[in-house]
Amino acid sequence: MGTFVTGSPEAAAGYIRRGGIVAFPTETVYGLGADVFNERAVAAIFEAKKRPADNPLIAHIADIGQMSDLATEVTANARLFVEAFFPGPLTIVLHKSERVPLIATAGLDTIGIRMPGFELSRRFLKECGTPVVAPSANLSGRPSPTTWQAVFEDLDGRIDCILQGDATEIGLESTVVDCTGEVPVVLRSGSITIAELRRVVPSTIVADGSDTDAPRSPGMKHRHYSPSASVEIVSNAADAIPGDRTAFIGLDRPNGNFAVVLICADVDEYARGIFEFLRECDRRGIEKVYCQSVADEGLGTALMDRVRRAAMG
Ligand code: AMP
Ligand code: MG
Repeated sequence: MGTFVTGSPEAAAGYIRRGGIVAFPTETVYGLGADVFNERAVAAIFEAKKRPADNPLIAHIADIGQMSDLATEVTANARLFVEAFFPGPLTIVLHKSERVPLIATAGLDTIGIRMPGFELSRRFLKECGTPVVAPSANLSGRPSPTTWQAVFEDLDGRIDCILQGDATEIGLESTVVDCTGEVPVVLRSGSITIAELRRVVPSTIVADGSDTDAPRSPGMKHRHYSPSASVEIVSNAADAIPGDRTAFIGLDRPNGNFAVVLICADVDEYARGIFEFLRECDRRGIEKVYCQSVADEGLGTALMDRVRRAAMG
């Protein structure tokens, strides 16, 4: 089966309506979507990505009204976050409604809901006429895709359609906040920071890192974002050891010659470029990647979370 590549959100949405699976761009990364209420289509996502069955998907919506099809209750804190951050790179976890099949939530009684802000995603989701569950559109374990070509590289022939857009703006996955309890709990960092969430709900806390294999955010325990090369984190660019099968990414220039080097102007550019950089390292047969660490604040927290996971690979 060949994968149909199109720039038309209407054409791409047609595949979803017919029970197919479609990769589409958002402001964070490219997602691989299916109609949330079509169990066969949702199962096809897990198969195409080789995704472990215990890793839940995020439901993407085009308008706020769709939240009541997915969740039993939109809690008071969830409503505050919706007002402040939807549409945008924030996923809100709520108790799921009966209608949502358990395969979509990996057996959990909760569901993550997000409304992307990116114009092309909004047009696509509107045309789909149903919430679309989607994880990142990569083979499980690989760096998340930030370009349609990266999706093609991993999933050509395994999925029905790719909606072509530009490279994604943010480059890291959404912030995930659990709003099922009294106190909101951040399960995954992203470009919406803990400080921004606290400005809206001051009691918001961050899930304890030691808790990552508890069922709260099961996906976080899996191998993630890993290139074939081994990844090492250095605080100073000067600590990276050059070599012809070695690569470097960071904010400062390292000493000596590396096969691939990306010096980023700021943390935003680093976050936008990290996954594509790791993929490029694989294409070039790099054996060792040095990633320079950045301050653990703002977007830097989310970036370092992904880099640390890549280094665990
Ligand atoms: P991906 O888009 O590939 O990063 O996958 C979605 C991620 O969102 C999962 O791996 C989880 O970390 C998180 N997530 C999705 N749904 C839930 C949920 N119901 N409860 C907790 N975390 C979730
Ligand atoms: Mg993913």
